[in-house]
Amino acid sequence: MDLELTAEQRLLRDTIRKFVNEQIRPVAREWEAEGRYPDEIAATMAELGLFGLCVPEEFGGMAADMVSLAVVFEEIARGWMGVAGIIGSHSLSCWMIAKYGTSEQRSRFLPELATGERRSGIALTEPGAGSDLQGIATTARRDGDHYLLNGRKTWITNARHANPLPVLVKTDPAARPAHAGMSVFLVEAGTPGFEVVRDLPKLGYRGPETCELVLDDVRVPAGALLGGTEGRGLQQVLAALETGRINIAARAVGVAQEAFDQALRYAGEREAFGQKISGFQAVQLKLADMAIKLQAARLLTYWAAARLDAGHRADLESGMAKVYASEVALGCAVDAMQVHGGYGYSREFTVERLYRDAPLMVIGEGTNDILRTVIARSLTSGRGTVG
Ligand SMILES: Cc1cc2nc3c(=O)[nH]c(=O)nc-3n(C[C@H](O)[C@H](O)[C@H](O)COP(=O)(O)OP(=O)(O)OC[C@H]3O[C@@H](n4cnc5c(N)ncnc54)[C@H](O)[C@@H]3O)c2cc1C
Repeated sequence: MDLELTAEQRLLRDTIRKFVNEQIRPVAREWEAEGRYPDEIAATMAELGLFGLCVPEEFGGMAADMVSLAVVFEEIARGWMGVAGIIGSHSLSCWMIAKYGTSEQRSRFLPELATGERRSGIALTEPGAGSDLQGIATTARRDGDHYLLNGRKTWITNARHANPLPVLVKTDPAARPAHAGMSVFLVEAGTPGFEVVRDLPKLGYRGPETCELVLDDVRVPAGALLGGTEGRGLQQVLAALETGRINIAARAVGVAQEAFDQALRYAGEREAFGQKISGFQAVQLKLADMAIKLQAARLLTYWAAARLDAGHRADLESGMAKVYASEVALGCAVDAMQVHGGYGYSREFTVERLYRDAPLMVIGEGTNDILRTVIARSLTSGRGTVG
């Protein structure tokens, strides 16, 4: 078992780290505070090919393995977690279109998604249903060669940039079990009746927009049904979310690493009672615990990613990585704040942003409690195991 990155993965990490240090870190605090959309950063991400991470090479993408994907998200999140969101649900959508799209959908969308000319996201959550996706109310009714979509989605990241936006709906609301009547439609921007109605005010995760949107008799051709067959939507989405959890876990590792780095640096500079605070055992214990948990979270994330790369279903592994890494990120953000004392509470220091960004990873792509139930089901049913 090799726990080291390959030479290619290290090269990718170094390239992204350089980009983050040169172009993201210098502007992150100011742009995040202003709530400014980082267009210039997105443009460089396009030049680096990062919109094509999950697009097959035949369509001009990078076809990155999941460990490489984790490395990219980790590095970007070290500089500014919000920026990772621009290619987060976009990559998930690319993966889903590449895996389940008809040949027409793949050739129509993937080449431009790979370059960033087109962007994407994923619209699952509704005002009345988030964890309980089988409880969604958005519908698609067949009307000749078309479908009419009606409903409301909320908390949709990248909604103003997405084209197409995959939308989870019920094509047969009476189906039992409910998932048998669920489908995904690739809705193109500008389709009449499809409207982004507001940007949601957020604690953190600034940079990308997160929106509420309305679908009012949105008429889409039957060719917009992902994969061309009704009733596959929930299965398509759940498989894509496994890759999404790797990206969330990796972002959490990035936030935890940055919290640790900031705490270590500050502890080596700040003096109290005539010595550096890094000389106090209480501070040393915090730093040691942060480092141990951070590295454990990283290894768990790479392991889950490697399981997917080896072609296994990895709901257990990606769930474990996401739960653990996100809770480590939250803990490290709080510890880093404490090491900074009063300055940790200041908007002039990075740790306050880490403290605001970390909770998203606990909530997004399945709350940690929901994932614990998924992990437990996998273990008790014998489908998954550890050891
Ligand atoms: C900044 C941000 C960006 C987001 N971006 C997107 C996006 O791009 N696309 C998208 O579709 N969604 C997005 N989401 C939505 C996110 O995925 C949901 O918020 C999440 O899945 C939880 O759903 P909910 O908010 O409806 O909470 P609920 O499902 O109402 O859960 C509320 C609480 O009840 C608990 N709970 C619910 N059911 C159970 C159960 N069976 N057992 C134990 N506990 C339970 C949950 O763990 C949670 O603690 C985003 C959210 C945020 C905050």
